[in-house]
This record gives sequence, C-alpha cells and structure tokens, in this order.
Amino acid sequence: MQIQPLVRMNVAMNAHPEGCFKNVQNQIDDMKREAPFSGPKTALIIGGSTGYGLATRIALAYGSHTETVNVSYEAAPNFSNGRTGSAGYWNNAYFNHTANQDGIKSKDFIGDAFSNEMKQTVIDYYQQNNQKIDLVIYSLASGRRTDPNTGVSYTSGLKVIGEPLSGLSVDIGTKQLVERTVEVASEADIESTIKVMGGEDWQLWIDALLEADLLSDNAQTVAYTYIGPEATRRIYRDGTIGKAKEHLEHTAITLTNKLAPLNGKAYVASLKAVVTRASAVIPIFPVYGAVLFKVMKELGNHETTHMHVHRFVSDMLYGQNIELDSEGRIRPDSWELSEKTQSVVDPILSKITNENFKENSDVDNFVKEFMQLNGFEIDGIDYEQDVDLEALFNSYPIQ
Ligand code: NAD
Repeated sequence: MQIQPLVRMNVAMNAHPEGCFKNVQNQIDDMKREAPFSGPKTALIIGGSTGYGLATRIALAYGSHTETVNVSYEAAPNFSNGRTGSAGYWNNAYFNHTANQDGIKSKDFIGDAFSNEMKQTVIDYYQQNNQKIDLVIYSLASGRRTDPNTGVSYTSGLKVIGEPLSGLSVDIGTKQLVERTVEVASEADIESTIKVMGGEDWQLWIDALLEADLLSDNAQTVAYTYIGPEATRRIYRDGTIGKAKEHLEHTAITLTNKLAPLNGKAYVASLKAVVTRASAVIPIFPVYGAVLFKVMKELGNHETTHMHVHRFVSDMLYGQNIELDSEGRIRPDSWELSEKTQSVVDPILSKITNENFKENSDVDNFVKEFMQLNGFEIDGIDYEQDVDLEALFNSYPIQ
C-alpha cells in the first residue's frame, strides 16, 4: 500500500515506516559527525521513542557508546486494517536494529511506563543482565495516566488559570493561522495535570530502582521541562502544564536527597522549544515556534532537537559547561530565552497576521519538521512506492 500523510488537529494519524527509518538514520549520521564524549555506560530512557527522548537516546548511543533501554508507548502496525503503526514504533524498530548492527547494545519495552508491571519488567531485565544504571532520563509526554496504586485515571489538560485566553495557533494541515480560545482550568484540571505530567511517576521509578539496588554509584537522573518566554507564559508556565512542571522540578530535590547515599543527583533540564508530537498540540505554541525558528536561524543560534540534546549531554551533563539557574535547573534553553533572541521574537509576534505570517516565520520548515517526525517529506523516500508493512515488521523486530 502507498502511505500518504493524514493529519487531524495537528495530530498525525499515520506514519511512513521507511521515512521514519531515514529520519532516525539522519540523526545518527549527524551524531557520528560530532566529537565523541565520555557519557554513561548504561542509560534507561523513559519515553525514548520520539522527540527529546529519542534524540537523547541517539546522542548517548552514538556519542558515547551508551547501552540504552527505552520504555515507550507506541502502536504496532495492524495488517488487517492497514493501520501503519505509530512513528515511535518504527523509530524504535530502526534504532534497535541499527544500534545492534553497529555494536551498541539496546533494548526496547513497549507499554505503559506509569504501571507497576512495566517498572517490574525493566527491573527484571537489569537484574537478569546483572547490570546497574548510570543515567535515567525521564522524557514522557502523555495525556493520561492511571495511578498504579489506586487504579484511578487522570487526564492532563492544556488549560489556562484565571481568565480565558484567545490567541493564534497554526493549523499544520493548511499552514494557516487559526484563532484558538483556551479554556480556564478548574482545580480538578490542575490536580489531574499534575498527576499526569508532574513528578509522582518519576519518583516511583527512582524509588523502585533504588529498592532493587539497580542504580550505580554517582547515578544521575534528569527529567525534561520547559520554562519558555513571556510569549508562552499564560498557556505554558502559568497554565496547568506549568503547574505540573513545577511539581516535577520540586521532585528533583526529593530525588537528590534519596540519591545522596550513592553520591547521585537528580536534575531537571529546561530544553528549548522544538517541534514534537507533544508540542504541536499545545495551543498558541506553534506560532511562537515558527517565529522563533526564523529568528534563531537568522541570529545563528538555532539548533535541531537532536543537536540541542547533544550539546546538553556532551557539554553540560557530562561536560564542563553546565549552566544551572538559581533553582538548580540545567539551562540549555538559555539561547532561546536570551534577550538577544526574545527582543526580536516579541515585536514580530505582536504584529503577526495570516497575511504576513509566512514572511515573518519559518512556518514552512516548522510544518516540514512535523511531517518528518512521522516519516513524510524526507529526502530520498519515494512516496509513490508501495510499503509492505508486514515485511518491514518482520525484518525489524523490536527486541
Ligand atoms: P513526544 O511526544 O515526542 O515524546 C513523548 C514520549 O513519551 C514518547 O516516547 C512516548 O511513547 C512516551 N510516552 C507517552 N506516554 C507513555 C506511557 N504511558 N508509557 C510509556 N511511554 C509513554 O514529546 P516531547 O516533546 O519529546 O516531550 C518529552 C519531554 O520533553 C516532556 O517532558 C516535555 O515537556 C519536554 N520538553 C519538550 C519541549 C518541546 O518543545 N517539545 C521543550 C522542552 C521540554
């Protein structure tokens, strides 16, 4: 069958496996061109199939020969109804295959990272292999979590606190600006979003790994956050998601205390705004992103997702140039949030309309990057060719 992109409300409904393979290979090739660095021997990446988690996995594996275990929630293809499977599924399959061919060990577990069962599966794996973990990356973005101890399910909402907010967003399908009104959160919305995207599950993972004695001396754990500029403050930092991120950030302090006997450390790293499956659905955020990309390219400080992560792990986490703020957060996002960048972005955003959006932003590339996340618009892929999902599924088993 031929696979053409299907996007609804900025959510990709399908993926092109060979495009996903090429997309992962392109990131691997970029990493191979960078100088190697001395990182962890073993890393557990929770949420390593797409976006920042995948970029971290590739940077560690190809920059420092790190053996990675990835836990992600992805859909396999379904041959009877022609569903292609999710991009993250194919990213995992290709990374796994290629890393193992290149002599870099890797392992994937597909399932719910929030569950006790998945934590136990990962613990069993490390125990059977008699290995400890040097680095745990927590890079989940999820709309839903079931508390494993109570069975109650929570939904995270991208809502504002206080007054409703109206603003422009980008419709990825048409590249047009659309007016969006963001609802005001109730107390229950705030609590639910904290339950899903706050630090509770990160802490459950670290508690379980400590209890099983699977963390190495000097082990580190990092969870990813976003702080963002004034332009996204109401929807992000001051909204429901920001409250969850505050909780995540406070959890780092608790975890650092727990890791003290191992001389370990828990950090939160605030990364820059990039196009991912998660960020594309945040209202208003895509307009900011499209303008930001243009400005940062012109200023010469733009980075792709994987190059940003590479700088974070090689220069900061395992290098000499760690930038910490007064709250102990690692700040690779300082280029995005600098006065130099924001003083150009802000005036553009304040006068953006549908008529001038294209010339004042990098919307074409923003949308192209979104398509590429799902294996489309990748150079070298012939989208007129039939794809044999079953043959690819069998040739690239997830192991
Ligand atoms: P993403 O959607 O690309 O990746 C999310 C990952 O979480 C995927 O691997 C997915 O499989 C996994 N996942 C979701 N639910 C799961 C579950 N129940 N069990 C197992 N795996 C599950 O998102 P992203 O943008 O890369 O976000 C990762 C982190 O980076 C988030 O904490 C986000 O806030 C942060 N961050 C993102 C940006 C940005 O601009 N995208 C900026 C700064 C920080």
